[in-house]
Amino acid sequence: SLTRLSPHRLRNAIREKDSSVNAFICMSPPPKSAPERSQRLPLQDVAIGVKDMICTSDMKTTSSSGMLRDFTSPFDATVVTLLREAGADIVGKLNCDEFGMGSLNVHSVHGPVVNPFQPASSTVQWENREKRSAGGSSGGSAASVAAKMCSAALSTDTGGSTRLPASYCGVVGLKPSYGLISRWGVISFADSLDCVGVMAGDISTTRDVFDTLNVYDARDPTSASPDARQRASAAATRAWSTSSLADLRIGIPHEYFPSELSDEVLTPVRAAIERLKSRGATIVPVSLPSTPYALSAYYVISSAEASSNMARYDGVQYGLHVPLPPGTNLTNTASMYARTRSVGFGAEVRKRILLGTYALTADAFDNYFLQAQRIRQLVRADFNRVFRVPDVLSSDPTDAVDGEGVDVLLHPSAIRTAPPLGAEDTDGLQTYVQDVLTVPASLAGLPALSVPLPTNDQDWPVGVSVVGQWGCDDTVLRVGQFLES
Ligand code: GLN
Repeated sequence: SLTRLSPHRLRNAIREKDSSVNAFICMSPPPKSAPERSQRLPLQDVAIGVKDMICTSDMKTTSSSGMLRDFTSPFDATVVTLLREAGADIVGKLNCDEFGMGSLNVHSVHGPVVNPFQPASSTVQWENREKRSAGGSSGGSAASVAAKMCSAALSTDTGGSTRLPASYCGVVGLKPSYGLISRWGVISFADSLDCVGVMAGDISTTRDVFDTLNVYDARDPTSASPDARQRASAAATRAWSTSSLADLRIGIPHEYFPSELSDEVLTPVRAAIERLKSRGATIVPVSLPSTPYALSAYYVISSAEASSNMARYDGVQYGLHVPLPPGTNLTNTASMYARTRSVGFGAEVRKRILLGTYALTADAFDNYFLQAQRIRQLVRADFNRVFRVPDVLSSDPTDAVDGEGVDVLLHPSAIRTAPPLGAEDTDGLQTYVQDVLTVPASLAGLPALSVPLPTNDQDWPVGVSVVGQWGCDDTVLRVGQFLES
């Protein structure tokens, strides 16, 4: 693995390897040799890449947007500070869809990310491999880990941006419970859904990084309180603490096995369920009836919040500034904003701004935004009805389910394997459909982990998702470990 190289040689190796992946937007200078420490730090010298929506003071943070192409943050995001304090080598910034909006990592001023995977049976040279999408929006994060250019990477996940690329590239991707990891210094897409995610080659590295970041941050107003964290972990331990599969109840939600699911995905997922069952886990068929409405609700809510967040990039206070042509009336601020925003934002971002602004207008509000919020409540209630662990954030503790509930849910992370690059339908609804299995956990704020499954020599990677009750991130990771072994 490249990540065993010294920081200096690692950077040279990345430059070479990344020429056919395009995961990196920029790289940091190698760290000066660290002062002798009496104690080894938890992430000492671990090479970690950071999605370009997360602020770093020593490198640009572009969010893959023309709007921020020259932006360098004056500070590090809390997550970056925590990684540095834990001894990590932050090697560089990683490509993504513009402001996190996308599922294929093709909406980027830096160009698309090419999936580094190549089926074991393929005989062509790696550089000439079949060009498929790395998934999005955190395609650079998944690809950098899959190509072993980083040991781990930070991503973000608003509606699936960690789990989908993890599944397409064959790496582990964790979207933690909403509010556990600080968003301070993370560029907002849709605040009520945004989470920082962790990607790595295995669960144990994912856990090491997650443990480093899983701390309360007073600078993030949505950071979960120490009390809520404590209550959730106590409830999770009461439900399943034996680390024996014999005591584990796994729910299989039938709405997550739609007819569109390809056999390529279904076969390894079924095999994984069988393996867990033969090792003692109890498999329980469950139903989450609001699932079919989640995708529409997600696109209304996320676009509404995005339209508000994108409003700050006006070319005056934030972002690229495109001056008016000489001789125009300088008091015409509207056309100055329009010029700046038409040049700075890509087509997908402009589309979301229009969608979101419309959903928030007085005429459409009740039919779109309010309806979407109601569906969000129903999705949350569906999950609470099936989990054995109570929702500690709920104001109504009667939601707590008895011993009949399940500890986790298991379902495919995506309806297909990585789609080919170049032929993608980037405008149509088809690209939004790829998120159908990941958005419900986002709407409900639940921890969700995508784990790569064993496949045949000629097949592309397939991921299975483990979803738990809010705050049960440790449970989800422990179940992931069983899937790995
Ligand atoms: N693909 C989804 C979208 O385009 C999710 C993106 C994300 O999680 N950042 O909105």
